[in-house]
Amino acid sequence: MLTETAAGLYCEAGDFYIDPWGPTPRALITHAHGDHARAGSAAYLCAAPGAPLLARRLEPAPIESLAYGEQLTLGDVRVSFHPAGHVLGSAQIRIDGPGGVWVVSGDYKRADDPTCAPFEPLRCDVFVTESTFALPIYHWDPAAAVIADLLAWWQANGERGLTSIVFCYTIGKAQRLLAELMTVADRPILVHGMLLPVIDIYRAAGVRMPAVQPLVERPRGTSLAGELVLAPLSARGTPWMRRLGQLSDALASGLMRVRGVRRQRAYDRGFVLSDHADWPALLDTVTATGASRVFATHGHADTLARYLREQGLDAGVLRTAWEGEAGADDEE
Ligand SMILES: [Zn+2]
Ligand SMILES: [Zn+2]
Repeated sequence: MLTETAAGLYCEAGDFYIDPWGPTPRALITHAHGDHARAGSAAYLCAAPGAPLLARRLEPAPIESLAYGEQLTLGDVRVSFHPAGHVLGSAQIRIDGPGGVWVVSGDYKRADDPTCAPFEPLRCDVFVTESTFALPIYHWDPAAAVIADLLAWWQANGERGLTSIVFCYTIGKAQRLLAELMTVADRPILVHGMLLPVIDIYRAAGVRMPAVQPLVERPRGTSLAGELVLAPLSARGTPWMRRLGQLSDALASGLMRVRGVRRQRAYDRGFVLSDHADWPALLDTVTATGASRVFATHGHADTLARYLREQGLDAGVLRTAWEGEAGADDEE
């Protein structure tokens, strides 16, 4: 029911594309990250909670949305969006048509996240799963343990007179960090201005986060020792950093599970907090769908497909325009 084309995954029976990277007449979008939501299509459809994030990335573009679970008939198929637990408004796309029930997961995670609706397990005949962190080395600790480590690091930095800065993805990770810090931070958290518009969208959606203060509101020359600053990865190494004084820096990402990556990127600390499913969660999810055919895409797709074939499933790979290092897909 879905085929690979030069512009991305295409459903002929419904005449639409899913997360296309080229311009198309109609694009159904799983979520607003840059490797899934590209400008240039004539019409967009997404889950309602994700529409403000998508509009911010694509404006001006015609964006329609459906509530989670709401069905729409397109050609010979019915489509619906279901929570993927990845970021605000992220969705699995369910397609029910002549080829059975297909589900395209988009990016997803199974861990709790106070900033978005939890992943909804769906039964289907064919499951297209992401595979960003599909290697057995990827196994996440609970977020509470990661946040406890982050707090201890922040405190220790303060005692040494250092500013703590955590680099994080603009959509999702920054807001999840803030929400997780809601009950434990004892002062406003400072943020780079680029994070503010997305924080505002999350607040408007009802996500509870602690007070933040744009760094620019602090008079120049005031010491930031002991403060915690969140910033997008693109701010690293820019003159903006001079404001911070003596600092310790960290990256919050699933990539920090890998020692070589930590060293190569030269962060003082890595906090392994991911918005993607880890290896056990990928396998559990594939099993829970009951699907007899599985396609892996985005990331370590070959590894996951090979493993699933060894377990007796009919598994293959869907190529994307974003081949390469796991996690790099969420850079924006
Ligand atoms: Zn994503
Ligand atoms: Zn992605």
